[in-house]
Amino acid sequence: MEIINPIPVELNLNELQEKLHMKPGKQWAQVLQLVESAAPLIEAKVVYKTCYIEEKYTDGVQLDGIRLTSPVLGKKLAESVRVFPYVLTIGPKLEEEEKNFTEYIQQYCLDIIGNVALITARRSFEEQLKKKYKLEKMARLGPGSLKAWPIHEQKPLFSIIGDVESAIGVTLNESFLMIPRKSISGIYFPTEIPFEACQLCPREDCPSRRAPFDARQAAEYEPKDTDH
Ligand code: SF4
Repeated sequence: MEIINPIPVELNLNELQEKLHMKPGKQWAQVLQLVESAAPLIEAKVVYKTCYIEEKYTDGVQLDGIRLTSPVLGKKLAESVRVFPYVLTIGPKLEEEEKNFTEYIQQYCLDIIGNVALITARRSFEEQLKKKYKLEKMARLGPGSLKAWPIHEQKPLFSIIGDVESAIGVTLNESFLMIPRKSISGIYFPTEIPFEACQLCPREDCPSRRAPFDARQAAEYEPKDTDH
């Protein structure tokens, strides 16, 4: 198990502005004040493991004696040897701060600031992985991102990594959602073919879509729609 703590996070204000659909002006100036107060509350860290795939199945893989079940995982990891299960969080402080605001707009802005921080930390982790293991291209999948890898698979994923709570303070609730809320989990794997879970997800109105829906590829898996 390896821990990177802290992951330095510098918020990209252009990205934040875009996600908030805001233009420079009074409201944006207020957001910048929020960014200033939010910055010290962002405590990004990650725990991950380097695993060699022990068994491959059409509907999953076995890592460290634990089976992960998903037809997407089975197919995408068919050529992989070494993979990197991970859990990454920005900690609980920002979402605790959100509760101190009564106005919806401020809570919403802090929520989006948290999302941008989480994405920034995840990108930084990905770059560090690539550099350390001399990998050119990587893709990732997470439990719950698609019905073809359901959310309850968080449990075996966490078991593979180890004591995630002691490492970075992230736990699972009874619905397998992560606490703190601003956390992400999954598996990074080297690949020559670019892949995003969004390619298999038909959701039309998702503001976070990273790749167009690929109906032909999605038809290879059942069920086809998304959980989030
Ligand atoms: S399109 Fe949206 S909901 Fe679907 S996998 Fe991508 S980010 Fe998730």
